[in-house]
Amino acid sequence: MRKIQGTGVSAGVAIGTIHVLESGDGSVERRVVADPAAEVQRFRAARDTAIVELGKLRDKTAAELGEGKAELFDAHRLMLKDPDYVESIEGMITTSSVNAEFAVNGTAEQFAAMFAAMDDSYMQARAADVRDVSKRVIRILGGHDTADQNPDGPHIIAADDLTPSETVQLDRSKVLGFVTAKGSANSHTAILARTMGLPAVIGLGNDFDPEDDGKMAIVDGSAGLVLVDPDQESLKSYQAKKKGYEDHLRLLQELKGKPTQTKEGQTVRLYSNIGRPSDVTSVLANDAEGIGLYRSEFLYLESEDFPTEDAQFEAYKKVVQKMGDRLVIIRTLDIGADKQVGYFNLKHEDNPALGYRAIRICLTQPEIFKVQLRALYRASAYGNIAIMLPMITSVQEVRDAKKIIEEVKAELRDENIPFNADINVGIMVETPASVVMAPELAKEVDFFSIGTNDLTQYTLACDRQNPNLSRFADPHSPAVLRMIKMTVDAAHAAGIWCGICGELGADLSLTETFLEYGLDELSVSPTSVLPLREAIRER
Ligand code: PEP
Ligand code: MG
Repeated sequence: MRKIQGTGVSAGVAIGTIHVLESGDGSVERRVVADPAAEVQRFRAARDTAIVELGKLRDKTAAELGEGKAELFDAHRLMLKDPDYVESIEGMITTSSVNAEFAVNGTAEQFAAMFAAMDDSYMQARAADVRDVSKRVIRILGGHDTADQNPDGPHIIAADDLTPSETVQLDRSKVLGFVTAKGSANSHTAILARTMGLPAVIGLGNDFDPEDDGKMAIVDGSAGLVLVDPDQESLKSYQAKKKGYEDHLRLLQELKGKPTQTKEGQTVRLYSNIGRPSDVTSVLANDAEGIGLYRSEFLYLESEDFPTEDAQFEAYKKVVQKMGDRLVIIRTLDIGADKQVGYFNLKHEDNPALGYRAIRICLTQPEIFKVQLRALYRASAYGNIAIMLPMITSVQEVRDAKKIIEEVKAELRDENIPFNADINVGIMVETPASVVMAPELAKEVDFFSIGTNDLTQYTLACDRQNPNLSRFADPHSPAVLRMIKMTVDAAHAAGIWCGICGELGADLSLTETFLEYGLDELSVSPTSVLPLREAIRER
């Protein structure tokens, strides 16, 4: 038996035979072509076929996994139409008289390197997408049909890396789980694995051996462990673990529609965090009682220019309409630091986490803030909305923001545009200053939501992006917990509610503590809702 430790990105246990996928990568041959113009035409034909293929894949994914997951293939189609990408390929073919495969591969590598070098983890993950679409074009240029690499029986897919389109093309009825040598937890493949509910372990590195094809293996997606050629004892214990996990998932389904209440009758509102309108499907499927954090900056991150008022209005309206009566807390733009957007033209900063970000941008560039606020207030006519301001450090910032909000309301009134003037306005408590000033801040707003991700970073002076600090960046630190307690107490003393929307809210080892502190709401990723409801109901 061989034990390999990787990173678990999707929970669950898979037991079965390994099927190693051909990586199909690498050695793209360079040839000199006699007629570059004809080669450009050959590239264009292959690209058009790829666009058609992606359309079909989009429809298949929408039918099987929902519209949200299908959007990825729209993004792939857009990549193939991107003028910079196309110009780079055609330029290479024309100026160097090289074959189309070589030009596509070269361009893919250049673009992937550019994405990988960006600070933002979302953009870094796009490196895999550009390689993915390019691989498709190269395959079509080679005259190969859609790769059907599904063997007959059920199996564990093993690959050097898996592209998102390879992932969805797999026959789900036969795939038990995934293991890859490379990969990142933020990649779409990891996200797809979680959506498909398939256990997955990535980052096996050199321990991944293609010679393992056909061998028996166990994948433990929670522990990030792969056992190749397991002994009888391990097989038996993992079969029991697998059954336990599946029974638990079934049991959790029964908690849908049940109140989130302890045995003694203490209730907590269980909300979800989202980044995109399409995430609402998962919010509803997991029976979250509302949306406690809609990270609106994703609208900006995914656009090539400032999203218009109408585009934002449509996105917010879609979310609130789908959520019906349930509350949707939309956080205003939290750009800067780890979320960089080119068209904002933000200057280089030595310490971006301590820099020009979030509310600081909104207050110094009210023309940008107002577009978002107008869209938010317009959407308030269609559902149950609240607004949340990020990165607050002082009472003055809240007053300045509220002044701009009042200006926007006055404009909408003058223009006879319907909106709800009474929607709640709250703040994220995610800086030590806001904790210290919580008693004063509580008099200014309708609610607090504690952003434990940033609160941990700023309280412990540990960059949240730095993997080398994990020993010091302990969100269980008494300093962070005391900050949380101080915030809840200040909120309650002023008669407002207080929740948590940082990752710590889903930490089951702290559920008891949070109940003791009297937190009114916990907002967590959709798949954490039912496990958390279970933990609360057991108290
Ligand atoms: C936080 O800081 O805890 C938070 C929820 O916001 P983000 O992770 O988007 O900074
Ligand atoms: Mg934050």
